[in-house]
Amino acid sequence: MANETAHGGISIELEHIFPIIKKWLYSEKEIFLREITSNACDATTKLRRLISLGEVKNIDASDAKIQVKLNKTARTITVVDEGIGMTEEELRKYICQIALSGALDFIQKYEGEGEGAQTGIIGHFGLGFYSSFMVSDTVDVITRSYTGAPCVKWTCGDDGEFEITTDYEPEEDEIGTYGTAIVMHINEEGEEFLSAYKIRETLEKYCAFMPVPIYFIDEEECECGGEHKDGECTCEKEAANVPAKIRRIPNPSTIPSLCG
Ligand code: ADP
Repeated sequence: MANETAHGGISIELEHIFPIIKKWLYSEKEIFLREITSNACDATTKLRRLISLGEVKNIDASDAKIQVKLNKTARTITVVDEGIGMTEEELRKYICQIALSGALDFIQKYEGEGEGAQTGIIGHFGLGFYSSFMVSDTVDVITRSYTGAPCVKWTCGDDGEFEITTDYEPEEDEIGTYGTAIVMHINEEGEEFLSAYKIRETLEKYCAFMPVPIYFIDEEECECGGEHKDGECTCEKEAANVPAKIRRIPNPSTIPSLCG
């Protein structure tokens, strides 16, 4: 009797993969901030690349920035970019499917064989985003594509169950005309990151050389240095609606050297 050979693909059960990502994908928990910030940086680099290729007109991304916001009371860390954003279809493709890397798709489409050499796009493996679950029990993605497609909100628990709101109306300051906000609702394992010092230290360690300026905002620290709550300063000064203090993460490559 002839041998019969059957082929199959290994299937992955999401509920088994999530705990593995949380425990073993990265040995250092703080890596999540590097991954999420480098995705924000990639998204900005992609938009700049499309502009330089003439594929996108009427958008100027030269002043695009990344904001990392901490809200200790709400227990959230939010990374907001002014990059390429995602349509609902892209969100379903790149975020809802583990290891389907949008970075590789982009490089293949716009860079040929260059493997990102020209754009400097960092992501490759399609897993980095999920490192956010190492420190979060829920992650929201609020995104609006540069194409003008409607805003979409995706909310996912650490069991991998998600919901998508299409035609989402973002709140003021949530995101700009285009770009993405990743809101991480910090769990007990991520407690140490509910600290302005820890976030700034981690950003300075891993993200200082990224080619997009990064600003850190402690939403509870007023511009005047006092405490800041619900858009109002609680200090003695006459200071309703004073903005929260914004600090730029220093980028050593743009600071002139004192040694000449
Ligand atoms: P990688 O960065 O290695 O491709 P990730 O898991 O970190 O993998 O992200 C998967 C994909 O999700 C990215 O390639 C990109 O297409 C999309 N993505 C993630 N974050 C953003 C963002 N801030 N803006 C636009 N797209 C994003």
